[in-house]
Amino acid sequence: MLEKQNRIALISVDGDPAIAIGQEEAGGQNVYVRQVGLALAQQGWKVDMFTRRSSKEQAAIVQHNANCRTIRLPAGAPEFIGRDELFSYLPEYVKAFQAFQQQHGFRYSLVHTNYWLSAWVGMRLKQLQPLSQIHTYHSLGAVKYRNIDEIPAIATKRLAVEKACLETAERIVATSPQEQEHMRSLVSTTGQIDIIPCGTDIDRFGAIEREAARQQLGIAANEKVVLYVGRFDKRKGIETLVRSVARLHAAGRTNLKLIIGGGSQPGRCDGRERDRIEGIVGELGLDTITVFPGRLDDRILPVYYAAADVSVVPSHYEPFGLVAIEAMASQIPVVASAVGGLQFTVVPEETGLLAPAKDDVAFAQAIDRILADSSWARKLGERGRQRVENHFSWQGVAIELGHLYTTLNSATVETSRAIAA
Ligand code: UDP
Repeated sequence: MLEKQNRIALISVDGDPAIAIGQEEAGGQNVYVRQVGLALAQQGWKVDMFTRRSSKEQAAIVQHNANCRTIRLPAGAPEFIGRDELFSYLPEYVKAFQAFQQQHGFRYSLVHTNYWLSAWVGMRLKQLQPLSQIHTYHSLGAVKYRNIDEIPAIATKRLAVEKACLETAERIVATSPQEQEHMRSLVSTTGQIDIIPCGTDIDRFGAIEREAARQQLGIAANEKVVLYVGRFDKRKGIETLVRSVARLHAAGRTNLKLIIGGGSQPGRCDGRERDRIEGIVGELGLDTITVFPGRLDDRILPVYYAAADVSVVPSHYEPFGLVAIEAMASQIPVVASAVGGLQFTVVPEETGLLAPAKDDVAFAQAIDRILADSSWARKLGERGRQRVENHFSWQGVAIELGHLYTTLNSATVETSRAIAA
């Protein structure tokens, strides 16, 4: 079977790059795979993004353009299966991947896997064919489990897979120096790591005027908009934000408007977290100043950023945090937790402010400083935009990944030639 030299398989079993973003188990990883895939395709790569079929209605293949498609293979029944329950279906996924290659008469010599479930798939494939594996974690069990109360049954398996992958993959992509440091201190001192950040769409964000955005959303000129964008998940720390806004409200700051944007489904984890947050908003007497617009789609999301005074990312843990750079690309100052990749993207006093995670007093002070000084806030926004243009465009990220793939691809092709000889 032929190995096509500029072909890349991005494997993201649990994070479908072709579905709606912004609700349970559909966030940054899905955006990353899709945007990296599209940008690589623009640069001449043939990109196949592999994910799992999670409903009967989903097409098996979504063709995004001539060089980029999403391919949905089976792993368990075609229905929603939570990440923590997916592991036992992965051998079936590997078989389906092999069958796909067989059917199409080629084998991938490069796979870029995403999240630990796909790391396992990549490692298994490597036992079956000559292959270079590149891996992006998106979240590290070793960090995540430090920050949650209930450790799932799958934790031991996950930690072992994450360690094995770090030690055996041809290259690990850390999206921030902080993530690299966590890998080294908590997972393993062995393995090859490159730092290549996540990116954002610098044309889509930052193109809308504040006044036009406010008019479209019905927000008055004198309202001070504090914006959260993201999934409803305890790890996202929305409670900290709500409590900090309650402090500002109680201290007499007027015209506050808190917008909490993100999708949720009743009865699911995100639905329960939204109910809990709404409960806290009610208890703290913030109903009249808080809005829950639901999931913000691609079209409306840039409008919300453009209308905001400050974007808040109060996560307990964040390997990268796309929302911070989306807000910065939109020229909006960011107040974020001083954790993980947020310490890399947000430069304190330059593009926003950092506060200790879960510390609603510190968040209230930081938000207040920004709301109190609009000309400083504008400067923070401008520098944020500059920083994103310089470091975090998807095109730039894809160029770096492309160089990495090319280097590794030559090595794999050489090895398989040597084996064949
Ligand atoms: N998002 C969205 N609509 C929403 C909520 C979130 O499009 O209603 C997007 C958000 O813009 C970002 C991604 O979901 O691109 C979340 O990525 P991030 O890295 O911030 O967090 P994750 O979900 O990976 O934990």
